[in-house]
Amino acid sequence: MEIDRYKIDLAETERIEKLMKKSQRPIPDPDDWLEEELKRNILLTTVDYVADWARSRSTFPLMFGLACCAFEMIGTAASRFDVTRYGMDIFRWSPRQADLMICAGTLTWKMAPAVRMIYDQMPEPKWVIAMGACAVSGGTFRESYSVVPGINRIVPVDVYIPGCPPRPEGLIYGINKIQQKILKDSIKNYQ
Ligand code: SF4
Repeated sequence: MEIDRYKIDLAETERIEKLMKKSQRPIPDPDDWLEEELKRNILLTTVDYVADWARSRSTFPLMFGLACCAFEMIGTAASRFDVTRYGMDIFRWSPRQADLMICAGTLTWKMAPAVRMIYDQMPEPKWVIAMGACAVSGGTFRESYSVVPGINRIVPVDVYIPGCPPRPEGLIYGINKIQQKILKDSIKNYQ
């Protein structure tokens, strides 16, 4: 029987080509899932930003109720509005343990030196919120001989919250503004 060498060569070539194709297929990467997992779990940031963020979420407010607005401030700290969500766990009674003064209510000239003294006793950096029309500008009592027409005449104010009285949501909004301000005032600036 005559051997058809051409056919044998052809079959061999086909076999080799098939094998080549199979071996050139890319080998799947067993660590493919890792990249996706890393994307979901690793967050790149800077130490400065983390420190600023932590600082903005850990202010210690000073309980400073001067008149009727104080009840809205107290309501903000109670369970319904729960100001703890913003990192303000406990209102402080001592200025030495506080860095945020929330002046809620009417400030009289008689009380003004005490407010200034308490402000001076707070450690730096510190912030002040004027809560309510009376604290912002004297409110209804602006023309009165006994009322300070705005606490900014006594201490520097960072955030003004209008209203008579402002609701707890208003105070929470003001607190958010203070947090934004703290974030902008980065610790980088103190180096
Ligand atoms: S702003 Fe209105 S609620 Fe607040 S202390 Fe003044 S009068 Fe009272």
